[in-house]
Amino acid sequence: MLRQPATELRVLEQRHTSGAYLKRDLEIVRGEGAIVWDADGNRYIDCVGGQGAANLGHAHPAVVSAIQQQAATLIACPESFHNPVRARYQAALCAAAGMERVFLCNSGAEAVEAAIKFAVLATGRTRIVSTMRGFHGRTLGALSATWERSYREPFAALLPDVVHVPYNNIERLAGVLDDTIAAVIVEPVQGEGGVHPAAEGYLRAVHDRCRQHGALLIVDEIQTGFGRTGTLFACQQEGVIPDLMCLAKSIGGGIPMGAVLMAEGIGPVPPLTHGSTFGGNPLACAAGLAVLDVLQSSDLIERARSRGEAVRARLRERLPERAYREVRGRGLLIGIELRQKVAPVLRALQERGVLALPAGASVLRLLPPLVIEDEDLWAVVSAIEEVLNHAA
Ligand SMILES: *Cc1c(COP(=O)(O)O)cnc(C)c1O
Repeated sequence: MLRQPATELRVLEQRHTSGAYLKRDLEIVRGEGAIVWDADGNRYIDCVGGQGAANLGHAHPAVVSAIQQQAATLIACPESFHNPVRARYQAALCAAAGMERVFLCNSGAEAVEAAIKFAVLATGRTRIVSTMRGFHGRTLGALSATWERSYREPFAALLPDVVHVPYNNIERLAGVLDDTIAAVIVEPVQGEGGVHPAAEGYLRAVHDRCRQHGALLIVDEIQTGFGRTGTLFACQQEGVIPDLMCLAKSIGGGIPMGAVLMAEGIGPVPPLTHGSTFGGNPLACAAGLAVLDVLQSSDLIERARSRGEAVRARLRERLPERAYREVRGRGLLIGIELRQKVAPVLRALQERGVLALPAGASVLRLLPPLVIEDEDLWAVVSAIEEVLNHAA
């Protein structure tokens, strides 16, 4: 089953697409919870989860209803006016994160761009420290903080002053930190770079070092936020409240949205130093409110923690040792470092009705919606076991 012939619409999309994406041989038409269906009615367990944008799953009734109601009330309302939905959302988000102010935007890269600008404004400095294997987005500023050379090099002459240091290495960070650094940007778990969690105490040590030099700590929670790692935000596991926190992906239940949160004492930024037409859009804010409400009134976050641990334990128990090097992650952000290329494994899983992601050339990444049913989680483990047994 499951290798679809190209439909007319797929040929059409292939003809007009920018070419920026490597597309899979699959046309997704519908989703519910952790399941998506293709154009022929085949069912897939979705461990791509909208690339991390679908923590609540597809068509979550609370998100659907919030969007429907807000769409019929007011969609377009720029931040040059006040809006009650936005007001409630900003307050709820700041309270949930223990932060003071928020700038709303439309994507992860935009959140990183804004955080870099805010750090420059707050410190009067321009240099940024980022980490090797770190991923922060693909617009020019965010790209400068991203490690992967093939993403950066074609645009190198256009990018600002960023130094990369090894992740989880506080000595190397200390070696480059001085009073010219505006901010250090870091992920609590490096997602795109291969699912590498921060070592215990690392984020706190980075924060302490930043303070010593008057640099700001920017935590990029774009992938780790909204319950993914077993707490609402991953840095809460370390008791760290950063100076700036970047959010996107699952923030709007799948609606395009991003945010930069500012700790007490960081903002406000001077008027007109930044802005966005769609930022604080009421439709996105209504979706965001529904997402926060569901996460705070259900057991989904605790489920992410317990099921993540259980899945990692079962993978370690069941996968043939010759097929993998390491199983890593936090909560339902799961990485399996293979002893082979991940691409053929992803294709074989797709043929068995499981969609998963790569994180680099040899890491298999799972980002299932937190609402995934237990039986579907175990079916994913069995499918991976089967594929790796065949391959090895
Ligand atoms: C996905 C991601 C980004 C970029 O977000 P976009 O919405 O694709 O611009 C930045 N940082 C991290 C950690 C991400 O996972």
